[in-house]
Amino acid sequence: MSDKPLHLRVLEPGVPPTGDHRGTRIIGARNAANRADSADDETLSPGKVDGVMRRYRLYNDRQSVIFEGTLLASVTSERDGVQRWTDIEIFRTKGGRFIVNKVGVSVVAHLITCDEVKTKKYHGIADLLPEETPPELREPCPLCNPDIELLLRTDPPSLTFEQDRHRTDTYTDPESMLEDLYIVKGGKKILTSIVLWALDEASKHDPLVESVYNKETYVD
Ligand SMILES: [Zn+2]
Repeated sequence: MSDKPLHLRVLEPGVPPTGDHRGTRIIGARNAANRADSADDETLSPGKVDGVMRRYRLYNDRQSVIFEGTLLASVTSERDGVQRWTDIEIFRTKGGRFIVNKVGVSVVAHLITCDEVKTKKYHGIADLLPEETPPELREPCPLCNPDIELLLRTDPPSLTFEQDRHRTDTYTDPESMLEDLYIVKGGKKILTSIVLWALDEASKHDPLVESVYNKETYVD
């Protein structure tokens, strides 16, 4: 049983997100068609992909990206005990483009005097977006350790909340998507484990991704 907070992100206006935070982890697009089977599994959980074309609204920073498309992959690095994690989704649009959505999620609350947030913009209750973790479900920063419950009653402006980071990239073909997903580490081009997981999932649902991702190279 897990009573971790849900971080709902409504992708289809008018359709309420559904979910059960006891034993079912809602990840990625966070709708009924896209949930992990259970919360007691691996670090990275693939969401269910139903192949249905839907209208989605994603964010690139604070800009909306709206499209009709199919969800190809939905994975998360969320696990018990972590306060920050990454969700990755891959979509194919109706027009044949590929979209990668990365969300850096945080459930952390700080005192405004905390060293970690001194140079950052204040993000109070009124600044929280509906899909961000609400104040009462936030967890205290280990450094400044605010008593969130008490301060929400007595002095809410003394708290500041970490924002989720949204990034959405659009590609005309799977080759350019794959190329852009590489990062350079120690002088080598690598794919991180969560990106590999997302590509594995997307490959199962889209032959174009599969052909690029599992490309064979012949060496004589
Ligand atoms: Zn802090």
